[in-house]
Amino acid sequence: MAKTQKYVYFFGGKKAEGKADMKALLGGKGANLAEMVNIGLPVPAGFTITTEVCTYYYKNNHKYPKELKAQVLNALKKVEKEMGAVFGDPKNPLLVSVRSGARASMPGMMDTILNLGLNDVTVQGLIEKTNNPRFAYDSYRRFVQMYGDVVLGLKPKDKHEHDPFEVIIENKKHSKGVKLDTELTADDLKELVQEFKTAIKEKTGHDFPDDPMEQLWGAIGAVFGSWMNERAIVYRKLNNIPEWWGTAVNVQSMVFGNMGEDSGTGVAFTRDPATGENVFYGEYLFNAQGEDVVAGIRTPHPISELAKENPALYKQLDNIRKILEKHYKDMMDIEFTIQQGKLWMLQCRVGKRTGFAAIKMAVDMVKERLISKEEAILRIEPNQLNQLLRPIFDSEEKKKAVESGRLIAKGLNAGPGAASGKVALSAQDAEEMAKNGDKVILVRIETSPEDIKGMNAAEGILTARGGMTSHAALVARQMGKVCVAGCGALKINYADRSISVEGRDDVYIKEGDYISIDGSTGEVILGKLETKPSEVIQVLITKTLDPKDSPTFQTYNSLMNWADSIRRLKVRTNADQPDQASNAIAFGAEGIGLCRTEHMFFGENRIMSVRKMIVADTVEERKAALSELLPLQREDFEGIFRVMKGYPVTIRTLDPPLHEFLPHTEKEINELAQALGISYQTLKAKIDSLHEFNPMLGFRGCRLGVLYPEITEMQARAIIEAAINVMNEGVKVKPEIMIPLVGHVNEFKLQEDIVRRVADEVMKEKGKKIDYLVGTMIELPRAAVTADEIATRAEFFSFGTNDLTQTTFGLSRDDAGKFLPLYVQQEILPADPFETIDQQGVGKLVEMGTKLGRSSRPNLKVGICGEHGGEPASVEFCHRTGLDYVSCSPFRVPIARLAAARAVLNERTTKTTKSKVAAKPKAKSAGKTKAKAKKKSTK
Ligand code: PEP
Ligand code: MG
Repeated sequence: MAKTQKYVYFFGGKKAEGKADMKALLGGKGANLAEMVNIGLPVPAGFTITTEVCTYYYKNNHKYPKELKAQVLNALKKVEKEMGAVFGDPKNPLLVSVRSGARASMPGMMDTILNLGLNDVTVQGLIEKTNNPRFAYDSYRRFVQMYGDVVLGLKPKDKHEHDPFEVIIENKKHSKGVKLDTELTADDLKELVQEFKTAIKEKTGHDFPDDPMEQLWGAIGAVFGSWMNERAIVYRKLNNIPEWWGTAVNVQSMVFGNMGEDSGTGVAFTRDPATGENVFYGEYLFNAQGEDVVAGIRTPHPISELAKENPALYKQLDNIRKILEKHYKDMMDIEFTIQQGKLWMLQCRVGKRTGFAAIKMAVDMVKERLISKEEAILRIEPNQLNQLLRPIFDSEEKKKAVESGRLIAKGLNAGPGAASGKVALSAQDAEEMAKNGDKVILVRIETSPEDIKGMNAAEGILTARGGMTSHAALVARQMGKVCVAGCGALKINYADRSISVEGRDDVYIKEGDYISIDGSTGEVILGKLETKPSEVIQVLITKTLDPKDSPTFQTYNSLMNWADSIRRLKVRTNADQPDQASNAIAFGAEGIGLCRTEHMFFGENRIMSVRKMIVADTVEERKAALSELLPLQREDFEGIFRVMKGYPVTIRTLDPPLHEFLPHTEKEINELAQALGISYQTLKAKIDSLHEFNPMLGFRGCRLGVLYPEITEMQARAIIEAAINVMNEGVKVKPEIMIPLVGHVNEFKLQEDIVRRVADEVMKEKGKKIDYLVGTMIELPRAAVTADEIATRAEFFSFGTNDLTQTTFGLSRDDAGKFLPLYVQQEILPADPFETIDQQGVGKLVEMGTKLGRSSRPNLKVGICGEHGGEPASVEFCHRTGLDYVSCSPFRVPIARLAAARAVLNERTTKTTKSKVAAKPKAKSAGKTKAKAKKKSTK
């Protein structure tokens, strides 16, 4: 006979029918209630109707499976037995709550009914049991009101409609001459119940159901029905919760925290969810119901006070806290009620937490031997590390600012962290204001190389234009600055030194006014907001804190050491200054994956020499400019080699998109003309002749060195001379020279030949030999698809996924900020491809390039140095694709280290799951063979 399907799971007493890993069937709430019973915690008895019933209900025109009724009645009997009360009994009535409970928590989205089972007869039983008529009638009127709203549909449809029950309550208070609900007497509340029922009859044409069983089925139907209410549908969509999951329904005995001074209610976390401290954290109120705590009508007391107010109860609760953590091996969020001195657990689930707390708790739990290092690593989202590394806003202050309308715009979250300061509209102003001791936010339409000093002086950078890999974004990240880019709503007016904001006529910001930016969320907030510096930075970077005095640093350090012991991918950094390189080393970088030599000419007078080189008309002029640059470059490389102490240093030959480097303003043109000893007009004409319609696809990368070999010659000389000089100081050096924007192997050959020729010359001159590599960036689709040819010559590849994304999508990286956010909003693209690698498109080229490259050079070293190298999902992709290293900005090095370790662990899980799946059919067929053999033998 076929076994009847089980739709109802009882919990209560000492044993439940469900358990924690049955969330899909029982929902999160039901599964955890069952689990709490199983581990011996006091839970008011009840039962869970499974999510399968919900699915059935929607598939079958709001009907239930035929077995359901009997199973509910059976479970209800068990509940009655457990609680020593009877549903609908006039003397000793059992009251229940009916609540939803989906697999994932959907707070407040679905319906709940409390105190179910009350009618004019059972309320008398409740009065007798509690000896508290006011409490009994208050429970009754709350029940009728909730039931009327939720089950009978009297709930107002929007905020403009009045809740009919609230109107009746207001009238009652008015007629009794009182202000507060709590001032209404038992008789007043009794009258309210009748008035509520009359209103229900008037609105629906039906009497309020007095039969508790009818009430129960009505409530169950309403909760299942609320799975499809508009709020729930929208919430599911936003949180990727599939509709087919359905909700479970939990019917549970009521316990009351408002039955006098020996009763109460509370919510708590087993550790502090904000700081991660291992302390009991929560609030409680005596003589109150849960909603009083949540609604903020009365101020609850911190849980620590319970230790003084009722030590026995506190001890019991604290013991439960320990049991829960030991069992779940995580921080739990609990709800409890004390009814006349007895403690009951109403809910527990894994608690939400800040990134900071997540890290501290995971590391502490490894030390407490609750979880393994691997579990700790898998529990922390790499970007949560930002909360240990970057300055952050005080969350309360920020919340207040947002609530008071100070959040004025949102851009791209281009450089994480929080910064607050006075608006400076030019780099020069930023520098001056910073010199005067002000904290500054540099606000520009977009940034250019001249802004570098201002960017350095500022706490944060805000731009109206540009995408995630625009100049502002990548320079800011490399410097470790907070940055919000591409904030199109800002209308920046340089002429009258002001900013207005689209859609906010009430906002007008002048230079010098305070502004705050959150580079982790892209938010721009009016006015000043306090920021908190990070201890890890104080230890590692500013060296103003002793690691011994910083438990936070120790936590960070343990986590990083564990990650390093697991990861396979190496992590390098993108740095072009010795200080950036040494920051990166402090963060654990194992080399430089990209030194952008053109960045070395930002600021001071160096940009002038680059400009002279760009506008030179003859080889002689260019060589003269290059000879100014040679010593500067050599010195810079020496600085970097010294800091990197034998770690590999990938130096890229010049790749300056001309529009970034040419002078724009009259003043800049004049200065350059003077330096060159030519007229403004002559220079202007030259600049105009260099104008390009698509500079990002124009005269940049190796094209520059192909046309002007003397540039590559100078750079190769500077690198090799610097390497030998530093080697002579006794420091190991490992230069890797990288040719950018190669599309054809012939371009590479030309450049490689120059590099090798000059290297030989220098080594001969200096009488010293050094090992060095010559490789290329793969940042054009053609390079990826002809990677086998290129690898016949190139000794290493580094994927420049900024340009590779730009050229694969045909999407300008500087202008994408204008419409990409909309693409993401409308789900045309799942994410900004300049932020996280487009695995299906750009990623395919990376895979293909790696495979092809290694097909002709099996030991080819392959890395990535686009901005994706510090983004966790992209790092995981690089691990799976078999790259040797990722390279990212210094402050993202720890994030990449953690992401690389998680990649290994996730890969292990996938492999185990896959091998399990693969093993299954085998086991089945083995079983079948056995069964067949048995059949044969019985024959
Ligand atoms: C790239 O294109 O990914 C890259 C690293 O080079 P750049 O950002 O300097 O063009
Ligand atoms: Mg590039």
